Amino acid sequence: MITRLIRKVLGIQDKPAGPRILPADEHGIRRQQISSCALKTTRTLRQSGHAAFVVGGAVRDLLLGREPKDFDVATDATPEEIRRLFRRSRIIGRRFQIVHVYCGDETIEVTTFRASQPDQDEGQDNDSDRVAAEDGMLLRDNVFGGQEDDAARRDFTVNALYYDPETEEIWDNHGGVADARERVLRIIGDPVTRYREDPVRMLRAARFAAKLDFRIAPETRAPIAQLAPMLERIPAARLFDEMMKLLLSGHAERGVHQLRAEGLHHGTLPMLDAILDDPVRRPFLHAALHDTDERIRHDQNASPAFMLACLMWFDMRAETQRQEDAGLPPMAALFQAMDDVLERQRASLAFPRRFDGMIKEIWALQPRFEQRSGSRPYRLLSHPRYRAGYDFLLLRARGGDAPEELADWWTRFQDADEEARASLLQPSQVSGKRPRRRRRGKPGGGGQPDDHAGTGG
Ligand code: ATP
Ligand code: MG
Repeated sequence: MITRLIRKVLGIQDKPAGPRILPADEHGIRRQQISSCALKTTRTLRQSGHAAFVVGGAVRDLLLGREPKDFDVATDATPEEIRRLFRRSRIIGRRFQIVHVYCGDETIEVTTFRASQPDQDEGQDNDSDRVAAEDGMLLRDNVFGGQEDDAARRDFTVNALYYDPETEEIWDNHGGVADARERVLRIIGDPVTRYREDPVRMLRAARFAAKLDFRIAPETRAPIAQLAPMLERIPAARLFDEMMKLLLSGHAERGVHQLRAEGLHHGTLPMLDAILDDPVRRPFLHAALHDTDERIRHDQNASPAFMLACLMWFDMRAETQRQEDAGLPPMAALFQAMDDVLERQRASLAFPRRFDGMIKEIWALQPRFEQRSGSRPYRLLSHPRYRAGYDFLLLRARGGDAPEELADWWTRFQDADEEARASLLQPSQVSGKRPRRRRRGKPGGGGQPDDHAGTGG
């Protein structure tokens, strides 16, 4: 106490004086709340004389009364030692090795305590430098350390809590328990240094604030606006992964606003400005984010491609219009626009090409929903992407981008029996606008100007 005061008066920086150790009745987490696989893992490590803690998101979530997504374990055993202790385990990774321990269909990620070292003395270990450059982090944390070092290298105080299932104690080196109670997200150490080491921590701040409904501590928040451009040096694949974590976290609606509030969207979701500032486009995006959050909360799947199709929809529509104005027929304009928009958006939001097919299908199906006569609705119904296209149409209707009545019609049509379906079909309309229309089925054909029925996806 006295020495701390003297150090403070003399301006000597306090090194963290070891963890505060909280017994169960101070934090409430009981070992029964830990998965059996994580318990088995920590017990085995303990019995071999090692320290072993449940760490990271799981402790944080339990403290907040949430169900953990998964359980991670940290220990002073080396990867080889861990590997030898568990028959069903595997060493993963190169830059820093982690061990996966398997029980049934559960996997526990076990890491050895590590210390962070600024990446200054380059040239010694070329492989590590190269890998560090690949994920855009200016630090190496491939040096083994103690529990205290391991806590100090983590990002936020609430993510640096260590739970010992044996004693039911939490080891808290950075005040994470108090921050969890106050619902504050606070970065460990000097914020500017930590963001410079790894700019992705800024995105993580926005993500966790949204997910946990925390406020970002003022000092943690302050440097972000200025440092946000550092995200440019982060490899596209890592940025994309982080964005998807945010969008598919079950808290995308809040996450997207948090991202924009911190000015972090420029290099990640640049289209947000155009959408959220536009009263015509905003409701659709809100409907899409809200719907995605609901799906995830109800354990339904939500795909990155669907989310991407939503984010780029208006850009695609505007581009289609431009192409039509330039003289392309509607179909050609649509397909040209899809390609152009995907390429343009990929420059900032680096999504993998494997999503392109599904994004395009969702978009290209939209005009087909306007066909409500003849055999076309039946063909649309049996399209492999019908469901995604229909879900997209519902969102458009909720966002005011498609008639409610059209969405309702499809809901009734898809749920109806054969007879009811036939009675729902609209009489074929003869539109005077397009005399050159191809005729199919009944006279009049029901063809609309932008009929994409023939493309089949
Ligand atoms: P979620 O429930 O969303 O998975 P999480 O806290 O488990 O949250 P992960 O991304 O899975 O987050 O990371 C696990 C832990 O690793 C974090 O709790 C944090 O302690 C540490 N960590 C992850 N990324 C970083 C980073 N960029 N810098 C410092 N520590 C990090
Ligand atoms: Mg996790």
